[in-house]
Amino acid sequence: MNKPIKNIVIVGGGSAGWITAGLLAAEHKTNNDNAITITLIESPEIKTIGVGEGTWPSMRNTLDKIGIKESEFIAQCNASFKQGSKFVNWQGIQNNDIYYHPFMTPEGYTQVNLHHGWQHSNSNKSFADTINMQSHICHRGLAPKQASTPEYASVTNYGYHLDAGKFSHMLQTHCTKVLGVKHVIAHINQIHNDENDYITHIEISPKGRISGDLFIDCSGLNALLIDKHYKIPFIDKNHILFNDSALAVQAPYCDPDEDIASATVSTAQSAGWVWDIGLSNRRGIGYTYSSKHTCDTEAEKTLKAYLSETINDQKIQNLNIRKLNFKPGHREKFWHKNCIAVGMSSGFLEPLEASSLALVELSANMISEELPANFEHMNIIAKRFNERFEYRWQRVIEFLKLHYVISKRTDSQYWLDNKTPESIPKRLKELLTLWQYQPPNINDFVQNQEVFPSASYQYVIYGMGFNTTAYPTDKAFNNIALAQRYFAHNQETKLKYLNALPSNRELLNHIKNNCLQNTG
Ligand SMILES: Cc1cc2nc3c(=O)[nH]c(=O)nc-3n(C[C@H](O)[C@H](O)[C@H](O)COP(=O)(O)OP(=O)(O)OC[C@H]3O[C@@H](n4cnc5c(N)ncnc54)[C@H](O)[C@@H]3O)c2cc1C
Repeated sequence: MNKPIKNIVIVGGGSAGWITAGLLAAEHKTNNDNAITITLIESPEIKTIGVGEGTWPSMRNTLDKIGIKESEFIAQCNASFKQGSKFVNWQGIQNNDIYYHPFMTPEGYTQVNLHHGWQHSNSNKSFADTINMQSHICHRGLAPKQASTPEYASVTNYGYHLDAGKFSHMLQTHCTKVLGVKHVIAHINQIHNDENDYITHIEISPKGRISGDLFIDCSGLNALLIDKHYKIPFIDKNHILFNDSALAVQAPYCDPDEDIASATVSTAQSAGWVWDIGLSNRRGIGYTYSSKHTCDTEAEKTLKAYLSETINDQKIQNLNIRKLNFKPGHREKFWHKNCIAVGMSSGFLEPLEASSLALVELSANMISEELPANFEHMNIIAKRFNERFEYRWQRVIEFLKLHYVISKRTDSQYWLDNKTPESIPKRLKELLTLWQYQPPNINDFVQNQEVFPSASYQYVIYGMGFNTTAYPTDKAFNNIALAQRYFAHNQETKLKYLNALPSNRELLNHIKNNCLQNTG
C-alpha cells in the first residue's frame, strides 16, 4: 500500500489528455530527474473528437499555469474572446427574443438584492442589461480588454472560443518540448492488473508495454480503462437532458472584417439548439438535438436554414457537415483503484454552457493539487474526488435542465416533454419553488468552487422571464436605493468602457500581428 506514485500514464491525446498532462507536468516539474514521469499514449488510428470550441474563464488560469503565453495561444489556435452566452429564441415569448448569461459577477451582488432593485426600477431594461455592463459589451462585439492590458488580465471577465484541433496540437508541442512529457503514438491492445486489481501496465502495438503507478483515462468516448477494462457503470441522463446528436460545420466569414461575436450564440430550435462560435478565421456552427424528437434529415434542414441567414446557398452546399452521437450521462464513479477518468471518458451531457472542458480543468487541477504520494494516500483522495465530482455533475445537469424547464416554448413535443415533472431532477424542482419567493443566492450553492454560482442562475431565470415575488421586508439586503446606486454606477462604467474598448476583431488582429512580428 505504500508503493510510491512516480509514473503517471495518460491514455488519450485530445484536449483532456494534454490539459491534464500539462497541468501535472508544469506543477510537478518532470524535467527534474527525481520528479514524477508523465507518459501520454495516443492512438494513431483514433482521431480526437475535434469539437469543443467554447471555454470558461478558468481556461486563462489553466493556460497560464501550464506556461503558455496568451498571445501565442490566440495566434496558434485562432482563438477569440468569449464573455458569456447569448440565448436567442429560448423564452418563447416572441420571435428573436434574446438574453445574455455574461461571465461577470455583477457589482454589489453579495451586498444587496439586485433582483429586488431591478424589479422596482420600473424600466423595460433586461435584468442583465440593468445589473451588469457585460451584456452591452457583448452586444457591440467588443473585446474584454485593451491592447495594453497584460496577458490573461481583464477589464471584463472572459474565456475563449478556440479551434479544438489546433488547441490539442499546441498543448502537445508545449508539453513534449518544454515540460518533458513523453509522447507515445501507439494503439492500446490490452490492460494488465496485479492481484489487487490495480493496473500495472498497458500493452501497445506495435509490440511494447508501458508500466505505470497511476493511469488517467482520457480516451474520449472509447473510455478504454474506466469502461472497457473496469466496467464502471454509466449513469444515463437521457431522460433529463434529451440531446444526444449533433451536426457540426466550420463556416467561413462572408467578409474578412466581419464582426467576431464576443459570446457563444445559442439559438433554440424545435428539437434542440444551434451553437454559433466566432473564431478569428471562421465560425464553428452546429445543431445539437434529440434523436427522439427529430431525424437527421430534418436536423440538417434546420442547420442549413440557420446557416442561410448569413451564408449564401452555394457556400452552404460546399460545407462539410459532420455527424456526432453521444449518450448524455456520466460514470457512476470517476476514480477507481489507480485509474481516473477525465474528459469524455468520464461522461458528457451536451454543449450548452460549455461545461465539458471546465470539468477537465477542475479534474486535472484536483489531481495535481492532491497528487497522491503512494497507494494508501491514493485511496483516500479517490473517495474525495468521487464525492466532489458526483456533486459537480449533478449541479451541471440541474443547471442545463433549468434552461429547458423555464422556457415558455410549447411549439413542439421536445419543449413540452422537457417540462414533464418526471424529467426534472428533484432538487431543481425544489429550487424552482424556492425561487418563486426569493432569488437564487449563495445559500443555494454552498461548496467552494461551485460549477455555476447563484449569479448564473439569476441571469438565466430572470433572462427567461421567471417571476420571483419579492418578500416585502425592510431588511438591509432588500435595500432598493443601494441597488439602484449600483445600477447607476454600472451605467457610468458601461459608457466609459463602450468608448474605450476595441472590437473583438481589432484586438485579435493586433495580438496576431504582434505575434507574427515577434516570431518572424
Ligand atoms: C457536439 C459537441 C460539442 C462540444 N462543445 C463543447 C464546448 O463548446 N465546450 C467544451 O468545453 N466542450 C465541448 N465539447 C466536449 C469537448 O469536445 C471534449 O470535452 C474535449 O474535446 C475533450 O475530449 P477528450 O480529450 O476527452 O476526447 P477525444 O478528443 O475524443 O480524445 C480521445 C483520445 O483518446 C485516444 N484513444 C482512444 N482509444 C485509444 C486506444 N485504444 N489506444 C490509444 N489511444 C486511444 C484517441 O486517439 C484520442 O487521442 C463538445 C462535445 C461535443 C460532442
